[in-house]
Amino acid sequence: MSQKIDYLISPKWIAPVIPRSCVLEDYSVAVSQSTISKILPTNEALKNFREAPNISLPDQLLTPGFINVHSHAAMSLLRGIADDRNMMDWLSNWIWPIEEKLVDPSFVLDGTQLAGVEMIMGGTTTVADNYFFPEASSSAFASLGMRAQIGIPVLKFKNNWASDERDHLAKGLTLLNRQQDNSLQSLSLSPHAPYSVTDEGFLRVAELAKKKKIKIQLHLHETSQEIQDSLDECGLRPLARIENLGILNRSLQAIHLTQLNSDEIERLAKNEVHVGHCPESNMKLGSGICPISDLLAKNVNVAIGTDSAASNNDLDMLQEVRTASFLSKAVTNDASQIAAEDCLEMITLNGAKFLGLEHKIGSIEVGKLADLTAIDMSSIALKPVYSPVSQLIYNCTSAHISNVWIDGKRILQNKELSKFNMPELERKVDIWKEKIMSLASKIS
Ligand SMILES: [Zn+2]
Repeated sequence: MSQKIDYLISPKWIAPVIPRSCVLEDYSVAVSQSTISKILPTNEALKNFREAPNISLPDQLLTPGFINVHSHAAMSLLRGIADDRNMMDWLSNWIWPIEEKLVDPSFVLDGTQLAGVEMIMGGTTTVADNYFFPEASSSAFASLGMRAQIGIPVLKFKNNWASDERDHLAKGLTLLNRQQDNSLQSLSLSPHAPYSVTDEGFLRVAELAKKKKIKIQLHLHETSQEIQDSLDECGLRPLARIENLGILNRSLQAIHLTQLNSDEIERLAKNEVHVGHCPESNMKLGSGICPISDLLAKNVNVAIGTDSAASNNDLDMLQEVRTASFLSKAVTNDASQIAAEDCLEMITLNGAKFLGLEHKIGSIEVGKLADLTAIDMSSIALKPVYSPVSQLIYNCTSAHISNVWIDGKRILQNKELSKFNMPELERKVDIWKEKIMSLASKIS
């Protein structure tokens, strides 16, 4: 065979996601540069590509890399600092005061690296992040070789990155006008929430997103309090308000949506809004449950996010999607909601659609980029394997992830991030811990 490839990956099983419900056994994936160039039976692959290195993964499942559609990576430094509090108490009395004292580019760089390492070790290859000092998060994800959508925050409140809404937008525009030099990254606008952004701010966000052809990520209908406050303030539920301001369209990535009536579900479907479901954060902060079975029944694209480690408290996509599945089964009294193969689709292909990247990632297909995750199913606790996808969704965690490729590069090799200075990161995290603990003791 004349075609030249860089290497072969030969797992026991491949779950390519497209075609649906397909599991290939004893097949190999050939990778050339950053792209999947061939998928063929392993015995043929070894004959045809004798010269190429073969990464043999017996007892392992290969899937598309996982896509975490909602996070605030740097907040991993705040993991476990203010647990067991309701959402607005947690945010107003703990997280925001701590952030005001500490958040600067070095906090964001170190915190985002901490999160990025956890994500990659858990099989996540792409993340949509939202935090202050987006330049620092961008550097952190670049240092790890991770694919990312970097959200530019927009808030009406002063914070350490910007003084008011106009300042956020001005800084955002500067970033958007700068030449993007990292093919793994894109920028989005992240108006924080309806209660923290003015009508004028939303109008400007809508205009800018349209002009620059970028996504808008927004926390929306996270709690019942948010709905009541909006009704008291302007007589409209937040979703109706942002619809009037031109935000409710296919560019919108709406996060949480724990409070929805049937009319709102229709409007989300009609306007092709993408939904980011973060069940563990919603449960932990006592916020509510997003009715994803109803949304999926209306063909709304639903993808999965962990939210930050401060409200989860891990970034494990397998545990997150299992929670989504079990929660749906429980609230609908229907065990067929949400089936294992739908779960795999939600953390891969649906995530790619959410980000507008479905032509590049989200499935294992010839011509797509090699963003891949391998899961080791050799452990006794995972045997017997009747259905590898079922086993993945209902039994595996980040601890079973063995290898990760992003853009064709092997970033995680046999559970090791070989090119990353882990002791240095651990040292920095310890220093932040001392600072944050002393600050938190003054708040309590
Ligand atoms: Zn969030």
